[in-house]
Amino acid sequence: MRPVVIAGNWKMNKDLDGSRSLIEGIKSKVNFPLGNTKIVICPPFTSLALAHQLLSGTPIALGAQNMYEQDDGAFTGEISGVMLKSVGCTYVIVGHSERRQYFRETDAFINRKARKALAVGLTPIICVGETLDERERGVTEQIVSTQVKGVLANFSGPDMARSIIAYEPVWAIGTGKTATPAQAQEVHRLIRTIVRDAFGPDAAAALVIQYGGSVKPDNAGELLSQADIDGALVGGACLNAESFLAIVRAGVGKKAGS
Ligand code: PEP
Repeated sequence: MRPVVIAGNWKMNKDLDGSRSLIEGIKSKVNFPLGNTKIVICPPFTSLALAHQLLSGTPIALGAQNMYEQDDGAFTGEISGVMLKSVGCTYVIVGHSERRQYFRETDAFINRKARKALAVGLTPIICVGETLDERERGVTEQIVSTQVKGVLANFSGPDMARSIIAYEPVWAIGTGKTATPAQAQEVHRLIRTIVRDAFGPDAAAALVIQYGGSVKPDNAGELLSQADIDGALVGGACLNAESFLAIVRAGVGKKAGS
């Protein structure tokens, strides 16, 4: 059975004090059995070392929001996967739509970063998703297929088995507009089919596909009840311990096979 993975993307929010209080808040509320559900938080780089200390002995895993494709060298301002490992990260988000939009990241670059993440032992959460214009033009399937094939280029079977894909329709991120459960399920099914065709039925059945885009406590349950939605990548609602944990609870409530 696939796990449910609920990840919080803090984006460029929280200084050290703010990070400490949010993590303490989350820790104090994870007081229920998680079953098959995994929790990941992705604070900004500046809070990762502190987060690692504070999360020690808890079931909460640590992730970063981005990384560079090289291990070290003259790449001013960049952070490598090896560095992320050294501060306790086990996950890294790659190809978030904000990175694609503001920093011109391409599928090829995201693919190189994802493969480097795997090479150093991090689980990449690889983001794909169409814009509003693309959805309105009816090319969602084509856009998402191209992105998925691009970001997974040259992946081995074991690479695939250690990766997570996050479907995040760009028009639903930070806008309060959520894809309907049926709209999200349709794209998740498409992604699983692409992975099945490329890597086989076992890889497709094991793949965790998160949904992201204005996931909130009041819509998480219905989204997560869809057969191919195996978790959530949460932005705004993860900045509050109560709402983040309410989404985690929705994950715990997802029934096996649904
Ligand atoms: C995100 O940043 O990945 C995201 C889905 O944000 P939000 O939940 O705020 O839409």
